Amino acid sequence: MTTRLLSCRTPSGESGTALNLRRALDRVIDNHRRWKEGFGDHPGHDALAVDDGRLEAALDELGLRLRDNYPFFHPRYAGQMLKPPHPAAVAGYVAAMLVNPNNHALDGGPATARMEREVIAQIAGMFGFGEHLGHLTTSGTIANLEALYVAREIHPGRAVAFSADSHYTHARMCRVLGIEGLSVPVDGAGRMDVDAVRDLVAGGRVGTVVVTAGTTGLGAVDPVHEVLAVCRDHGVRVHVDAAYGGFFALLAGTAGADGVAAAPWEAIAHCDSVVVDPHKHGLQPYGCGAVVFRDPAVGRFYVHDSPYTYFTSEELHLGEISLECSRAGAAAAALWLTLRLFPLTADGLGAVLAAGRRAAGRWAALLADSPYLRLYQEPELDIVTYFPVAGDLSLSAVDSASQRVMGEGMGDRQDPVFLSVLRADARSFTLRHPDVRADRGEARVLRSVLMKPESEPYLDTLHRRVERLAAG
Ligand SMILES: *Cc1c(COP(=O)(O)O)cnc(C)c1O
Repeated sequence: MTTRLLSCRTPSGESGTALNLRRALDRVIDNHRRWKEGFGDHPGHDALAVDDGRLEAALDELGLRLRDNYPFFHPRYAGQMLKPPHPAAVAGYVAAMLVNPNNHALDGGPATARMEREVIAQIAGMFGFGEHLGHLTTSGTIANLEALYVAREIHPGRAVAFSADSHYTHARMCRVLGIEGLSVPVDGAGRMDVDAVRDLVAGGRVGTVVVTAGTTGLGAVDPVHEVLAVCRDHGVRVHVDAAYGGFFALLAGTAGADGVAAAPWEAIAHCDSVVVDPHKHGLQPYGCGAVVFRDPAVGRFYVHDSPYTYFTSEELHLGEISLECSRAGAAAAALWLTLRLFPLTADGLGAVLAAGRRAAGRWAALLADSPYLRLYQEPELDIVTYFPVAGDLSLSAVDSASQRVMGEGMGDRQDPVFLSVLRADARSFTLRHPDVRADRGEARVLRSVLMKPESEPYLDTLHRRVERLAAG
């Protein structure tokens, strides 16, 4: 990737957000200094001393190196699931990082361990769990690994089934855990095929079904309620991978352009475990996933005895219910602070997701009228997939046109636009677009994750830009 110097007409460098961050960090540093002063004077050490000039030079070098990045903050970046954290999350993270607590054990940081319990209770509440056991993780991958680990302990020797469009981590982690992983076909909207699940669980081979609430590629929501009913009939566990989509639960059943169908989200309350990534739609920096179990008794699968930790308290240590050991207490503080400002309600964090949801719906409508672009499938959440329609309607033409539009958009120095591509196999493609000739096994289509609320006011500009590229 080459260094990109965008000519920004909007003063985004010193926008209100940037100034607020500076003020917030001043406050964080003052609070931290006051806390330290309470312990009296202490000596410094020359070994840690750094010359101011050298630090500044190194910081500037870092600044230059970091220019080799895509502008995730700008709505002209409409590609993958990437955006900067909210300044509040940054300030919360820095505040705790200055202390550097380790949420592995209570004595590693009592304050952030308590914050972790509080945010987990809020997340559990969002999904309709009452009693629960859960914790933060460094990622959705680890959170899903823990859910599958518990699934294996509860149903040893039985398989785990997940949809063909589920995240690849499930197949991979089944291999890590030594369990059989079974792929279930998806329907023409990218959702798990319930009839296929019914056939599969009737055989008795499956112990757990993973449903995805918001697939990574298309943002499709599996019919959690229908899969759950089938699984309950056969004593099969249901794990919900809502790493991407989880916070859309806040919009479930709300009316209007930003609503999402209620039934799958409401059914999560009756599933066995759920994973959500605050570092995707929870405004957090990377290093923040979460797993929550409905039955606290699953804690028994984690119990271990370590001679050198857990010595100051009878309370349950987070390290006792987690496969990871050291974890940043700062991640819990950042999320805790963020949720003070953006509570898990439709008007709180929900309003952030609603903007992207509306932008996706509006773009779908514009694409339906476009002579140069066609919607690949109706967006269920905030991920829009589409492809250029050139003269020849074949998979090879769609594939090369998608690749061209993405490449030309990213390569334009004056007015760049950053998109991503999704590979669709011929069957999936022709199910949605029977008029497209399947002259090869698959085709790339364009994909835009509209996870920044700023995408909403920018949408018409974005659409015009992509349409111009597609027109050639
Ligand atoms: C992102 C994602 C994962 C993996 O989570 P990481 O935080 O990237 O490790 C798993 N499942 C789904 C549905 C995802 O979107």
